[in-house]
Amino acid sequence: MFPDDTACANFLARLRWLGGFICPACKTASSPWNESRGRLACPICRYQASVSAGTIFDKTRTALTTWFEAAWHVTTAKNGMSAKTLERTLGTSYRVAWTILQRFRVAMVDAERKQLSGDVEVDETLVGGVQQGGKRGRGTTKSVVAIAVEIKRPKGFGRVRMRYVPDASGTSLLPFVQDVIAPGSVVLTDGWGGYNGLSENGYTRKITVLSSSGDPAHVSMPGVHRVASLLKRWILGTHQGSVVPAHLQSYLEEFTFRFNRRTSRSRGLVFRRLIEQAVVTGPITEDDVTHGYDWGL
Ligand SMILES: [Zn+2]
Repeated sequence: MFPDDTACANFLARLRWLGGFICPACKTASSPWNESRGRLACPICRYQASVSAGTIFDKTRTALTTWFEAAWHVTTAKNGMSAKTLERTLGTSYRVAWTILQRFRVAMVDAERKQLSGDVEVDETLVGGVQQGGKRGRGTTKSVVAIAVEIKRPKGFGRVRMRYVPDASGTSLLPFVQDVIAPGSVVLTDGWGGYNGLSENGYTRKITVLSSSGDPAHVSMPGVHRVASLLKRWILGTHQGSVVPAHLQSYLEEFTFRFNRRTSRSRGLVFRRLIEQAVVTGPITEDDVTHGYDWGL
């Protein structure tokens, strides 16, 4: 579908101006003149609008066909692709592959995504290194990731949200819950004190604990347990365990994007969705790409 950059640019223009072209300079709706290299000229003020300016493709020197190919792999491969694999697949430098991935990861967060609701399990897990058996591990030096998973009745899981938090205190966990779970929801947690503020903040907290039988196969929170193990397997497998804390939230958003679309029957639609979000997501700086995007969390 996308043999060259013009085809890609036309696709971007269609998605960016779904309701028709509006000139970024004079704000007038019109039928623009098609110029070369993904530019549209306003017939009223003659302003040349670039389809990529102000989006994640802003000022890129990489061909749009390369971006599109990367988006296709990221959305159709079961586990996505590491920057290393993408580098080989696209035939680019590692830096270009990494830049593309990092920018797409920001675009994977839909600004209008709805809060989780209904029955939602929340727990923390530790990421980044081999976990020692035994201790629960709260307060260790590994990265703490808070996970929320919608629980469907009679069975199954809905959507997830994840956040890299500094620690497992209420100061870290409560804002996460408030951001990602709709008030009035039932929040299932263990007995940890970090969740004590839930009831005063409009949630029904339900404490689930391990069965007294001590059966190791029984987990108190099957949703979070399942998602956490998939996340760890993904980081260890696809990414060889090499995720640095500065980029951890970006990886979590990529995992979340894919997980929440796991039942989508059309990979093509997931690809389109990513490109749609990419044209409404603002530019990402070199600094974000290198040192980690500021998620404002
Ligand atoms: Zn204009």
